Amino acid sequence: MSLELADVERAYGDAVALRGVDLTVRDGEFFTLVGPSGCGKTTTLRCIAGLETPDAGAVRFDGTDVSGVPPEDRNVGVVFQHYALFPTMTVRENVAYGLRFDPPAGESVEERVDDLLALVDLTGMGERDPDELSGGQRQRVALARALAPAPDVLLLDEPLSALDARLRDELRLELKRVQRELGVTTVYVTHDQAEALAVSDRLAVMNDGRVAQVGDPESVYENPETRFVAAFLGENNCLDGRAVGGETRGSLVRVGDASFTVAGDYRGAVTCCIRPESLDVNASHNRFEARVAESEFLGDGYRVHFDWNGRSVVARLDDAPTGRVTLGFDPDDAVVLER
Ligand code: ATP
Repeated sequence: MSLELADVERAYGDAVALRGVDLTVRDGEFFTLVGPSGCGKTTTLRCIAGLETPDAGAVRFDGTDVSGVPPEDRNVGVVFQHYALFPTMTVRENVAYGLRFDPPAGESVEERVDDLLALVDLTGMGERDPDELSGGQRQRVALARALAPAPDVLLLDEPLSALDARLRDELRLELKRVQRELGVTTVYVTHDQAEALAVSDRLAVMNDGRVAQVGDPESVYENPETRFVAAFLGENNCLDGRAVGGETRGSLVRVGDASFTVAGDYRGAVTCCIRPESLDVNASHNRFEARVAESEFLGDGYRVHFDWNGRSVVARLDDAPTGRVTLGFDPDDAVVLER
């Protein structure tokens, strides 16, 4: 099942949640909506589920407008952040509840529930009560219940955000495996950019009720089109400067007292975006001297914060230097945005 949102708008009184959202989710895709709090992710998801009616624009399933179709007839499974399991029902009864309108064809409810429990790795847990489960296990039950009626579309609204970090990492792999196994078109909402980069086939970065950029994780990370996307998806040093014309190898950009060479032909006001991992103490190009302000040990290296003539610059380095350090970067590693 493919999904399409065309110019979807939604306001709550004066609060505008969606200002014209355009999106296409392909059949079988793991598609993520990622963006800061309040950017409209949940509202977008609710418009797909039919829990919210757009003020303008269209939502289409396989090309058909579903505006008149109530949520229960959209064949959509939803999992929310807070597992709304029924506390007085066992795990098995909770999952079977997902089948109340759609008894399985060709197998018993018991068999179907067993298959679903196996799918989410909870075989043998069927007779437990929800309060005998960990948070991660409860979310697995919620997932099994949402998947019980074999939905065409799976909608996941921050399903992992109430879990601790280690469990989150584990369960996101699990989610991805289940999604692949079933091939169900999935829209996943998260404000966690690392999660979005890790799980998605494609993602949409949202900002202020609009889609800022869509693409696969690598291409959006490597080629952000706006300063917002550059800074939101992963860390970035966004340095404002002025491009002053052609070099043999690209353009010269003045940032403060420094001059950097970047690939491509630019003139006028620009922002140079340099990832912390692109800055290096041994670089032979674009060198500048900065003072170490703070270092954080990350296990596989250090995140080092520098003060460069009043600007904050952050680098990922193997060692934690002190004092004044010369950093540099390869001209090809800077993404240049015209302002
Ligand atoms: P979060 O990550 O915090 O859940 P979000 O990106 O999912 O945020 P939405 O929940 O879609 O954002 O909300 C978008 C905007 O619409 C916000 O400014 C929010 O305050 C507003 N909003 C959402 N639902 C309602 C509502 N029922 N009544 C009034 N305003 C609402």
